[in-house]
Amino acid sequence: MDIKSFESLVRTENTARRFLTSLCWKNYRRFCIRCNSHQIYRIVGRRFRCKRCKYTFHDFTGRWVNKLRISCQNWLWIIKFFELELSARKITQQIDLSYPTVLKAVTLIRKAIVASSADAGDLLSGEVELDEAYFGGRRKGNRGRGAAGKVPVFGILERDGVAKVEVVKDVSARTLIDLTIKTVKRGSIVYTDKFRSYDSLMFCGYRHLKLDHKKRFSTGKVYINGLEGFWSYAKERLIKHHGVSKEKFPFYLKEMEFRYNNRNTEIFTQLAKYLVNLVPDLL
Ligand SMILES: [Zn+2]
Repeated sequence: MDIKSFESLVRTENTARRFLTSLCWKNYRRFCIRCNSHQIYRIVGRRFRCKRCKYTFHDFTGRWVNKLRISCQNWLWIIKFFELELSARKITQQIDLSYPTVLKAVTLIRKAIVASSADAGDLLSGEVELDEAYFGGRRKGNRGRGAAGKVPVFGILERDGVAKVEVVKDVSARTLIDLTIKTVKRGSIVYTDKFRSYDSLMFCGYRHLKLDHKKRFSTGKVYINGLEGFWSYAKERLIKHHGVSKEKFPFYLKEMEFRYNNRNTEIFTQLAKYLVNLVPDLL
């Protein structure tokens, strides 16, 4: 969303509210959130009541966006700043909200990204790259698989398609192959390096091509450059957050996956939509 369109959305609390409402209710058609009846009527204070079950609700009842006392205008500003990759500290300098509130707000946006990523069910197919990487840890230059203090991450990337990344407990054959089977359609061509955890892929219904690191530039299509691109994309961005805790890291990782997969499209509206549709049951 360009800045002019954004400006018209945040002009008043009403324009901001109308935009967020449009993302919750298709064509603004509300229905009872308890019994799904469309037989509702408006009562005072932007509330609705169900004729059938008498339940009273408003546009954001039961949604996470409603849990923090943040105006619709401020929500739009927070989403905009998040889109522009400002940290919670930097956002606090721009708007009239406390740091803890802004931090809760951006955490919710990340949770909304995780929830929507779990919903995306299509299997990857065609030509797919697999690779693992290590994130975090205090010691620099700690290389190799199983590096102490670092978080192992497994990445799967469909060429000309999307990347899916997941924090894993280890990089054993079992862990990596289980995740591959859940994510990649059988019959696909999978590219990996020579790590032995990948050895049994060919027995799981995949065409497995291994990259030889020594002659990586002469092996034609056998490369995992797509994922290597993702790893540097993610690491470069995570540096800005000056150390993310292990507990929060999976959320940041999913944020990176989302940003990477949408790097050529506008994410503002998508982020707003994910956020307003986040309900407590999902997490
Ligand atoms: Zn009802």
